[in-house]
Amino acid sequence: MTFFDHFGREPDGRWAAPGRVNLIGEHVDYAQGLCLPFAIAERTVVEVAARPDDRVRVRSRAEADGFDGSLGDIGPGSPGGWAGYAAGVLWALREAGHRVGGVDLLVADTVPLGAGLSSSAALECATALAVDTLYGLGLDRRDLAAACVRAENDVVGARTGGMDQAASLLATAGHALLLDTRDGSTRQVPFAPADDGLCLLVIDTRVRHRLADGRYGERRAAVEKSAATLGLASLREATLRELEALDGDLLRRARHIVTEIQRVREVVALLDDGRLRDVGPLLDASHQSLALDFEVSCLELDLACQAARGAGALGARMTGGGFGGSAIALAPTDRVDEVTTAVREAFAAGGHEDPEVRAAEPSEGAHPLPVL
Ligand code: ADP
Ligand code: MG
Repeated sequence: MTFFDHFGREPDGRWAAPGRVNLIGEHVDYAQGLCLPFAIAERTVVEVAARPDDRVRVRSRAEADGFDGSLGDIGPGSPGGWAGYAAGVLWALREAGHRVGGVDLLVADTVPLGAGLSSSAALECATALAVDTLYGLGLDRRDLAAACVRAENDVVGARTGGMDQAASLLATAGHALLLDTRDGSTRQVPFAPADDGLCLLVIDTRVRHRLADGRYGERRAAVEKSAATLGLASLREATLRELEALDGDLLRRARHIVTEIQRVREVVALLDDGRLRDVGPLLDASHQSLALDFEVSCLELDLACQAARGAGALGARMTGGGFGGSAIALAPTDRVDEVTTAVREAFAAGGHEDPEVRAAEPSEGAHPLPVL
């Protein structure tokens, strides 16, 4: 169904925002850590028209239902379901003091949902850019990203950090975005695998996670408790030696955070040096840490990484929140077919659903599209 079919009029414009893949720096964005995501070519597209009243209508080609209400109906927990990601952005912008009116909004195209590629942030960011333009807010992209985070945290109720939204709004083609979540500062780091005869593969295990189901929140709580136990505001400045005061689960969760932040620094140094080929072992170490210390991997993610490495990938790790979703593998371009086949065969042999393997190209952040 077209925008016209839904709303009986044409949209004022179309806006696209990409999904993201995190190269490294996983689960550290709520510990004031460093992460290194890049925007992918897959994009969510929203078609939006401003309204003269405060009515808000939201529909998606990817999901049933939607939302039909007024601005005043939007708030924490409302609307429930997927429409909260889009409507929540309107609420967050208004909460930040901006004059925003009603909209008709159709999510016309999408980043694959729940694959660990951040379709949620893509939807929020496309919506934010649309509303910023239609209501002439003239906001900085950092402010838009903050409103998107607020929508996801407060309206949807998923306690995610700010990495996904920063990547979707601030990333540039041919770069990864070094995001320092302590102060929100960013830096573009050269990252163009094809130039080095490499390819970054994204392996969607097709195991669908639900971030809102509590396990993400448990990890986040453990990380915050570790910091509090050590008397620190966050684990950002903690050293491995300081962690000796912790034990059990808290120690292991905290150890992941501290070592992962260090791995990000090492990967950035290699990329700045033009040594992408050498990051493989750091990707492998990140996966080990996420699987054993942080315990957010799963059988299928482990299998994907192991099969990819066995077929010649230089390194592989789960990416995103975990418990399913996608893994990444850095492969020489001439080994892409072998790696892809090996992963699919391993899944078939294990009785798992056929994974989708695609190449990820570091792409530009959110942008307007010409109206059809
Ligand atoms: P991810 O962000 O990794 O894709 P999440 O669980 O954070 O996974 O977000 C996925 C959810 O975002 C979907 O279940 C749905 O509620 C919402 N969503 C994302 N894209 C769309 C879309 N195009 N249409 C409707 N809902 C969407
Ligand atoms: Mg998400």
